[in-house]
Amino acid sequence: MLEVREIVKAYESQPLLRGISFSVSMGETVCLLGASGSGKSTLLRIIAGLEQPDDGQVLWQGEDLAAIPVHRRQFGLVFQDYALFPHRSVAENISFGLRMQGLAREVIQERVAAALEQVNMKSFAARRVTDLSGGEQQRVALARALAPRPKLLMFDEPLGALDKALRTQLLDELRKLLQNSEIPAIYVTHDQEEAFAIADRLVLLHEGCVEQEGPPPEVYARPTSPWAARFLGFINLLPGKVVSSNPLRVETALGCWWAGNSTMCHIPAEKPVTLLLKPYGALPVTDRSGHNLLEGVVQSVLFRGEGFRVDVLVQGQEFQFVLNQYFAVGQTLVLKVAPEAVLCLGEGN
Ligand code: ADP
Ligand code: MG
Repeated sequence: MLEVREIVKAYESQPLLRGISFSVSMGETVCLLGASGSGKSTLLRIIAGLEQPDDGQVLWQGEDLAAIPVHRRQFGLVFQDYALFPHRSVAENISFGLRMQGLAREVIQERVAAALEQVNMKSFAARRVTDLSGGEQQRVALARALAPRPKLLMFDEPLGALDKALRTQLLDELRKLLQNSEIPAIYVTHDQEEAFAIADRLVLLHEGCVEQEGPPPEVYARPTSPWAARFLGFINLLPGKVVSSNPLRVETALGCWWAGNSTMCHIPAEKPVTLLLKPYGALPVTDRSGHNLLEGVVQSVLFRGEGFRVDVLVQGQEFQFVLNQYFAVGQTLVLKVAPEAVLCLGEGN
């Protein structure tokens, strides 16, 4: 439905977006995930038509939208700060855009009621928005975006101003709403938990480019670069050099490693790579011989229900594993990491 093609944007000759491409299909929720300042909001404004790209196109069903102004694109936007009219009622806020479209009174009433129903706010129509809580205001903002029956919904960190419990609840409601609707959506956030919860597909933005994209479980299972791995919360990264590519063996400052997986197709010998050691792949052992071994001192232990999260310091570098038994802080620990839990990534930052 929507195709974003090679979008380039710079501010004061500082490049921000360096050729961003991705698409959104019918009924799909695509999540743009990137650090604060990575240009997510700018990209949304470009798609909405609120800002012009320096280069590249935004297409809707193959049609270039360059000449189509904001209001005629029929895209709905929901922002972090709600952007409601403070002294108007809930119904007035939702109906504003519909009146601008010149719809008939009865149609407007019907649409407002339907939108309020969708966000579970039926009984709030006559309330002033200033009398509502943050979560309720964000529901109104969502209803306002839904009421004109947009072709595309766009969310810019919509839950950023809410506390954790409310965020979880609204995220859940929003996910159900988007799953039950055919409306394609773009959801922008810097929060990976939020992104995992809502996205059919993730698009990771880094230094103005799409670093990686795919369904959340796929991206999480196979980050393709050290940056992506770190951004997703992995910390067990180990630089090294390939000594053999088939089977894959890597020499590192912490010994020799057998890697069961790689995100690269060609891995010549001597190539500098980074190994990602998955947190669930380690077992405590007593035998210090062989490969895939880490010996270090336990720094902290945290009971996490599904296991103990153990931080281990190995020659000055911290590693984190989830183990199914308790270890005391200060204890020396030898861990063997299964090759299947070792993913070989390209080098880079
Ligand atoms: P994000 O939403 O990912 O946090 P933004 O798109 O808001 O990122 O902005 C990224 C950077 O682009 C900002 O740090 C800012 O320096 C710059 N920027 C955004 N909009 C403008 C503007 N209108 N004029 C100048 N610089 C801007
Ligand atoms: Mg932003």
